[in-house]
Amino acid sequence: MSARVLVVDDIAPNVKLLEAKLTSEYYDVVTATSGAQALERVVADSPDIVLLDVMMPGMDGFEVCRRIKSNPAVAHIPVVMVTALTDSSDKVRGLEAGADDFLSKPVNDTALMARVRSLVRLKMTVDEWRAREVTANTLGVAGESAALMAQTYEKANILLVEDQAFEAQKCQEALTRDQHKVFSVTGGLAALERANVTDCDLIIVSINLQKEDGLRLCSHLRSNDRTRGVPILMVGHEEDLAKVARGLEIGANDYILRPLDRNELLARVRTQIRRKRFQERLKTNYEASLSMALTDTLTGLYNRRYLNVHLEKLLASTGEMRKPIAVLMFDLDKFKSINDRFGHGIGDEVLKIFADRIKTRMRGFDLLARTGGEEFVAVLVGVTPEKACFIAERLRRAIGKRPMQVNTPDGQLVVTTSIGGAYIGTANITVEEALKRADDLLYKAKEGGRDAVEFEGIGKLNPADYDEPERQILD
Ligand code: GH3
Ligand code: MG
Ligand code: MG
Repeated sequence: MSARVLVVDDIAPNVKLLEAKLTSEYYDVVTATSGAQALERVVADSPDIVLLDVMMPGMDGFEVCRRIKSNPAVAHIPVVMVTALTDSSDKVRGLEAGADDFLSKPVNDTALMARVRSLVRLKMTVDEWRAREVTANTLGVAGESAALMAQTYEKANILLVEDQAFEAQKCQEALTRDQHKVFSVTGGLAALERANVTDCDLIIVSINLQKEDGLRLCSHLRSNDRTRGVPILMVGHEEDLAKVARGLEIGANDYILRPLDRNELLARVRTQIRRKRFQERLKTNYEASLSMALTDTLTGLYNRRYLNVHLEKLLASTGEMRKPIAVLMFDLDKFKSINDRFGHGIGDEVLKIFADRIKTRMRGFDLLARTGGEEFVAVLVGVTPEKACFIAERLRRAIGKRPMQVNTPDGQLVVTTSIGGAYIGTANITVEEALKRADDLLYKAKEGGRDAVEFEGIGKLNPADYDEPERQILD
């Protein structure tokens, strides 16, 4: 789907011109010829970006921008002020009204496409973030408040590659307004070295470096692992526009022309930083929700959902491809009475200690999941029945043999577990069947008096038969 651009200008030929340029780049264009109409279109068409003329009779561009930015339903839509005036105070007014960027008339093609493209990218990222936030809220997982959106462009780490001291100084000064930390270097090698040790949010590259090719550096930055995802803002002269266009093609995100206008620089920098931060947050949220969906927060173990998927995969392969597996099902003994006597908090402590003790005695590639309140399942891969019995006995003892240190009046508590062990081997069997077999054996272990392993085909294990030095068991 192509991005939708709303073009707002009171002069029809201006609208037509922008419309033609954008349409030829496959943007979907909607238009408005007054401020009031623009506000209607913003709500009705939900564009991905608004190109807004400043000087219009009636409601001017600043006012339109202010109204868009104060309506929560559309405030996230980027607004570019299109101005015939080069007056810097206009840019300040635009920034204050909440504009995301500026374009000067007559609009040149490189500038138009660079800005539209980079703001559309920002908008897409924000949209994705908003969509996930809605999902998170629906699922009852704490989402982040939309208010956070507003304050995400300050205090960034910015790497500046500029060999003209005066220009570097000017750029650095401008960036202090948003409290950015600027790492100033004069060449590509130093830039890569800095990027290796500092997480940069943005790299500003001069394409007028005396001793090297700034574009080559941009291309390096794009292929380097540490800088691949870091936005690049190029700085050049008006006569470098062809070079700028080439830079945008090889992956630079935007550009700004000399002499640097402080407000324009800040606006461009903000756009890039916001997008980078949104993307990072999306990634973190994604990872967090992924781990939340698959793990248990109390013990950090995998949950039942993960166990099912994992077991399904193990059981899917057959014959030679399949490693024999054993399924051990654990249920703590008389756990309810622990809660009843000492409270739920102590019960939780016990569950954590239980999980730790079992987990640390299992091999890394075996799986341990918490499948219910005080029920756990271990899947042992590539074991013989004898070895599975050794492991099961060992795990039973790891729980019951030593008291757990918990905050009870005694400071400790003896807890035991019953275990049902099903030996699946390489049989063709469903996940449900495998778990049912272990569950039935667990029930038997409970019936038989608890603190015991009931193993398929063997019966209740006799601890004396498994009195081996521990280290032989797991190798
Ligand atoms: P049995 O030996 O027959 O397994 O006895 P039990 O008391 O362990 O069995 P039951 O299944 O009746 O009790 C399980 C208890 O586990 C009931 C429930 O209150 C408690 N429980 C379940 N989930 C949690 C949890 O997350 N934390 C705590 N502290 N207790 C939990
Ligand atoms: Mg129990
Ligand atoms: Mg139970």
